[in-house]
Amino acid sequence: MAKKQTLHQWSVEDSAELYGIRTWGAGYFDVSPKGEVVIRPFGHDGGPEVSVLEIIHEIQDRGYDMPVLLRVENILDSQISLLHQTFRTAISELGYRGDYRGVFPIKVNQQQQVVEKIAQYGAAYHHGLEVGSKAELIAAVSQLQSREACLICNGYKDEEFIDLGLHALRMGFNCFFVLEMPGELDVILERAARLKVKPQIGVRVKLSTKASGHWSESGGERSSFGLTSAQIVDVVDTLKERGLLDCLKLMHYHLGSQVPNIRDIRAAVMEATRIYAGLVQEGALMGYLDLGGGLAVDYDGSHTNYVSSRNYSLSEYCTDVVEAVMTILDEQAIAHPHIITESGRATVAYYSVLLFNILDVSLIEVGSLPDELPDDAPEAVRNLRETLNALSLRSLQECYNDAVYYYDEMRQLFITGRVTLRQRTMAERYFWAIMRGIAQEKSKLKQIPKDLAEIDSTLADIYYGNFSVFQSLPDSWAIDQVFPIMPVHRLNEIPERQGIVSDMTCDSDGRINHFIAPQGMKSTLDLHTLRPGEEYYLGVFLVGAYQETLGDLHNLLGDTNVVSVRIQEDGSYEFVRELNGDSISDILAYVEYDPRKILEDIRRAAERAVREKRLTPTQRYSLMQAYEGGMRGYTYFER
Ligand SMILES: *Cc1c(COP(=O)(O)O)cnc(C)c1O
Repeated sequence: MAKKQTLHQWSVEDSAELYGIRTWGAGYFDVSPKGEVVIRPFGHDGGPEVSVLEIIHEIQDRGYDMPVLLRVENILDSQISLLHQTFRTAISELGYRGDYRGVFPIKVNQQQQVVEKIAQYGAAYHHGLEVGSKAELIAAVSQLQSREACLICNGYKDEEFIDLGLHALRMGFNCFFVLEMPGELDVILERAARLKVKPQIGVRVKLSTKASGHWSESGGERSSFGLTSAQIVDVVDTLKERGLLDCLKLMHYHLGSQVPNIRDIRAAVMEATRIYAGLVQEGALMGYLDLGGGLAVDYDGSHTNYVSSRNYSLSEYCTDVVEAVMTILDEQAIAHPHIITESGRATVAYYSVLLFNILDVSLIEVGSLPDELPDDAPEAVRNLRETLNALSLRSLQECYNDAVYYYDEMRQLFITGRVTLRQRTMAERYFWAIMRGIAQEKSKLKQIPKDLAEIDSTLADIYYGNFSVFQSLPDSWAIDQVFPIMPVHRLNEIPERQGIVSDMTCDSDGRINHFIAPQGMKSTLDLHTLRPGEEYYLGVFLVGAYQETLGDLHNLLGDTNVVSVRIQEDGSYEFVRELNGDSISDILAYVEYDPRKILEDIRRAAERAVREKRLTPTQRYSLMQAYEGGMRGYTYFER
């Protein structure tokens, strides 16, 4: 970056490269000549582009405060089309004789508007839904439109769950029960007989193939779900005995989410297809092979088998899957099944962007260092000063060790009351001056020792964002998931600061300090200097999957405002849906406070203050107004 700066003027192209927007953006996001992030709802297919900053202004004109979760409905449509079209292409090119049937696993984003959109738009492709609980099943039945689309019931099922599914089947839904445990079979057969419905049964199998990645525990022989081959054979025998082998129609496995390596995907499909073939040979009707989720999102844009990426394209995924199934089944002259995938993450990740403003920045100010130390300066301060003067490329590690040692000594002396606050502050200044010096020099080293590499994030500015990591980016906090994050404007200016992003909880876990960089990860983000009186907006991208319902109410910061836009071919757009985020009163109710009782209690406390002559009645009135207004307000920072 520094090199570029001296060679030529900073341009939006430099920003595009620095933040990697064209590698992770999948064609949906880019930088405009004006230096703003733009959305291209039709992806690589071209079409209109809309500035995110313009949408932010429009949102604010309508009275919504930041943070806002922006959903771009067209991107969801585009992702569903892309999935189906890519599978269709692979199927027709390879001459495969089954169809592709996608299902969306509701757990990935259960929000009503998301599931509704998928059911509506997906109807043309018979895109179905996958559910793992009674609540999800009821939601799915209420939203699903196509009767040919699959409705897959996973999860451990009680009688009630099974009855709900059987009723759905009777209504005409293409509903399958996938056995997660052998014990479910008897209950399904018993309830089905009682309701006089012929069930469609699937088995979830445990594969020995294990995938690398964050969620690898979901697959493999030790996974807690699925049947072993011995258990599958038992299921077949039971169904045979009862003359119901034609109910067994589907085989399912789930390798885990975000599988970064295509080799694992291929190995799993091959193993699963062998089991599928075995079931057909046993006389089961079959017809559906359900490969579960796992289709990864390239969050860091590196196109590698790193956990936050994937080393394959969608078209390779589809081709490999179809080809593997076909090759194995053709060997044994077995009919090609319909292929189902339960791709959740890849379907919804792109379509939501979290937008927030920066409230404040804290910089480490070294301040001016004195020319001469006062006579009473403690020994440790003198040593720090000497360390600073001796700093050179060859002594970086030594200087670092000394600086930490003497600064620690000063802190100890301060705690035991032997140096003054001012003396301690002087030590602090020298300490940071040394760290700055090391940070500058270390870039000349070929190999940077770990201690020294970490100085960058210690020296980084802290940009305080108006959002909560716990509420809006739980995976960033819980499993260090990396999401692309960048300013959405000023991209024609050089970002001259190095910062980390902290949320408003000011909790040490409520910060983001892993960022995407052109070469791997880095611990700071390039950001612009704040301009007085002007907002600075950041966007966190690709947050549509798994982030919304896992969020918790850390510090009682609640759901953000949500705005959905639909962009027209001519680039105009419509606010199709707006959801107010939680009010303070909503949040207090979640944790079992009664908002009316709260106001009543405060009113009583205020009245007592009036009696004790601490407040006038008029002051009591304005106090109550403030509290009542506060209860209705947004939980985030309001300008
Ligand atoms: C979570 C889950 C999925 C979704 O996986 P993605 O990687 O998000 O596509 C699919 N199927 C099952 C059974 C799951 O548990």
